[in-house]
Amino acid sequence: MPAAPSEIVLSYADAAECVRRHMEDLRSVEHAVEQAPLLAAAGRVLAQPIVADRDQPPFPRSTRDGFACRAAELSTGRLRVAGLLRAGEPWTGGPLAAGEAVEIMTGAAVPAGADCVAMIERVEASDGFVRLAAPRALAPGENIVEAGSEAHAGDVLAPAGCRMTAPQIAAAAACGYATMAVFARPRVAILATGDELVDVTRTPLPHQIRNSNSYSLATQTLAAGGAPRILPVVRDDPAATEEALAAASGMDLILLTGGVSMGKFDFVEQALLRRGAEFFFTGARIQPGKPVVFGRLPEAYFFGLPGNPVSTMVTFALFVAPLLRALGGETEAAPRFATARLEEEVRVKAGLTRFLPARMESDANGARVRPVPWHGSGDLAAAAQANGFLVVPETAERMAAGETVPVLLL
Ligand code: AMP
Ligand code: MG
Repeated sequence: MPAAPSEIVLSYADAAECVRRHMEDLRSVEHAVEQAPLLAAAGRVLAQPIVADRDQPPFPRSTRDGFACRAAELSTGRLRVAGLLRAGEPWTGGPLAAGEAVEIMTGAAVPAGADCVAMIERVEASDGFVRLAAPRALAPGENIVEAGSEAHAGDVLAPAGCRMTAPQIAAAAACGYATMAVFARPRVAILATGDELVDVTRTPLPHQIRNSNSYSLATQTLAAGGAPRILPVVRDDPAATEEALAAASGMDLILLTGGVSMGKFDFVEQALLRRGAEFFFTGARIQPGKPVVFGRLPEAYFFGLPGNPVSTMVTFALFVAPLLRALGGETEAAPRFATARLEEEVRVKAGLTRFLPARMESDANGARVRPVPWHGSGDLAAAAQANGFLVVPETAERMAAGETVPVLLL
């Protein structure tokens, strides 16, 4: 039997840096690409840039309902209304003649010759003439967005590697992309280990528990752009663990939970070693999540995540989500943190970077966070109340109420 890998226990910062270096390597890897219709591209990672097919706006756009005219003329006098122009209608009257205005609606193309749009609220119009309701100097350019001022034809509006949310979808629609190239979702094998585990559909005996990690991991995998495949629960047995790893080969990322501690029946690291794994780290000075393992099999990266459900979630958010996003071709793949005002004092023992289940609430004035009372890394009930994890640095023993603190987002 190969020897267990020598322990490589890193600080949080070093473990994060190790994952980041592998993410960097993934930038030069060619990712599989598929074509997606516009709506199906929401949430996917662009494999091609979205390029403006024409100037934006394509014509000088009126941003108000009002009167298109020459600013200098309406500032000093009364103008004849030469016609009415709606959005979507071309102006056929030719360039504006001296002393003329055109009544115009928001979104319509401003006729040649006009250099401003006077808002409807600021003018008096009657008997085919318009004038300012109160004297003031109109500025040229008022209420007009010039053609090409937002983007020029050929400009990149969204680069390859960006995840498509509403603004990028809107840009793609505006530029005529009915379909676009997106990166294929990385396939993620999810292997829960543990003799005590039964599936959600079964009634556990008194000494058994339901497998929850496979489902939280699948949920986090989906959120990070991966395609999860939950494989059958693996018994705490070396041969079964190796067979399960063999069944997961061909996937882009392998996630195991449980079996990575020092217990007599923790076989995961040995099985990985026998299948040719290289280990980058076998632990991190964090809580929860200390026994987290990261490495690479000949065919794919893997993580051995601790079995305790809160540890599983935290280590996914810290290490797996970034690597998975990078595997999926996403450029902004780093773990996600926010800052918030701490609502109550936190005391811990120094020496580990802590990620305490916490509830963050935010409004227009900013975010507030308070830790959720918990009983350690197995406390699913506490995690179920949390929407993030309060970050306590390795050296801190206390964080005071009122401090601005980082929060790891799920
Ligand atoms: P382990 O890392 O295998 O020593 O497991 C640590 C703790 O997490 C034990 O209490 C396990 O019962 C629990 N655990 C392990 N795997 C799972 C799972 N898939 N779902 C829920 N709890 C689990
Ligand atoms: Mg176990």
